[in-house]
Amino acid sequence: MSVKETGANDGARIPLSAPAMLGNEARYLAECVATNWVSSRGPFVDRFEAQLAALTGRRHAIACATGTAALHVALLVAGVEPDDEVLVSDLTFVASANAIKYCGAWPVLIDAEPVYWQMDVDKLASFITTCCTSQGGTLRNRATGRRVKAIVPVHILGHPVDIEPMIALAQQHNLRVVVDAAEALGADYRDRPAAAWGELAVLSFNGNKLVTTGGGAVLTDDDRIAERVRYLATTAKDDDVEFLHGAVGFNYRLTNIQAAVGVAQLEQLDQRLVSKRETAAYYQRHLAALPLTLPREAPWARSSWWQFTVLIDDGFGRSRPDVAARMDAARIETRPLWTPLSKQAPYRDCQAFHCEHSVDIQRRSLALPGTVGIDDDDRQRVVTAVQAAREALA
Ligand SMILES: *Cc1c(COP(=O)(O)O)cnc(C)c1O
Repeated sequence: MSVKETGANDGARIPLSAPAMLGNEARYLAECVATNWVSSRGPFVDRFEAQLAALTGRRHAIACATGTAALHVALLVAGVEPDDEVLVSDLTFVASANAIKYCGAWPVLIDAEPVYWQMDVDKLASFITTCCTSQGGTLRNRATGRRVKAIVPVHILGHPVDIEPMIALAQQHNLRVVVDAAEALGADYRDRPAAAWGELAVLSFNGNKLVTTGGGAVLTDDDRIAERVRYLATTAKDDDVEFLHGAVGFNYRLTNIQAAVGVAQLEQLDQRLVSKRETAAYYQRHLAALPLTLPREAPWARSSWWQFTVLIDDGFGRSRPDVAARMDAARIETRPLWTPLSKQAPYRDCQAFHCEHSVDIQRRSLALPGTVGIDDDDRQRVVTAVQAAREALA
């Protein structure tokens, strides 16, 4: 059957999220070539870091090769050691847990709450009080005997997690906090940037994020932490002439070429956020009448609307894979949320604390196209395709 015969489509394929080049990207890249600053040092790296720190209200930003690398080095600097345990959301991209494993530590998976789909602070508290015991200022998991060292709160989909009580819990129990803010550039929590919260926070600039240079960054307000992150991310070099290295470091630096694109895209951050917000408002308005659970903004939150995701209610009459297949036939790319970590081969055996909502949310989830700069025609096509998936039932 041809596309015409189905009547399902009258345009090009709409991607879920594609990089958008809107400003000085090409000009700054040409500058890298002209000045020969093309590798892991250069003026754009410095500018990118300064811009990131300013935009997030942080004293320091250290650009890294990927968001995953940034998380890895942040966890190491937070003191996560082999055989420690780290509390993390069950419903997140696998990198949040992989970085914990790179340290030789064990993720303990905490459920998502059902309203904003973020890591559940009540369950986090409940895990600490019912499953752990404090010995001389060290929190231990009673079942495993291991030291619980840190919490990795994750802001998923550009909506902030309720982080203030998590930081309070961490202080109370002597835990370190490394925030995975990979998806939350441009989001606010209680009128401050979401990435401004926590001792250490991490951003990603992977191709489907708000800034698409590839790469990541560690953010902190602590001078000593910043220095240590930079040291470990640049091969722990003590001396430039003799090549003395004081530790087993990493080559986790961002290149000047990537930073050049990053600088150009941060210049457009407001414009990018407006596009995301308008896409979200459009979908909210036009999908409100359908049996879907639409994403909500908490009273204390301003979402960046990084990835607009709906849940298919039972009343919709079709399963999420069925709806996704129909969208695909209409040449519209959609995606469910990540399979929860507790269902993934490398993490199936990790302790998972009452992970029920994460599984249900993921099962019903469908992310809709939201490339920066998507126009109303394409937004309308998405809405029409969702409506058609429902009407096809009648
Ligand atoms: C994208 C992402 C990362 C990792 O970033 P990369 O730059 O792809 O390594 C980590 N955590 C979350 C929640 C992400 O969405």
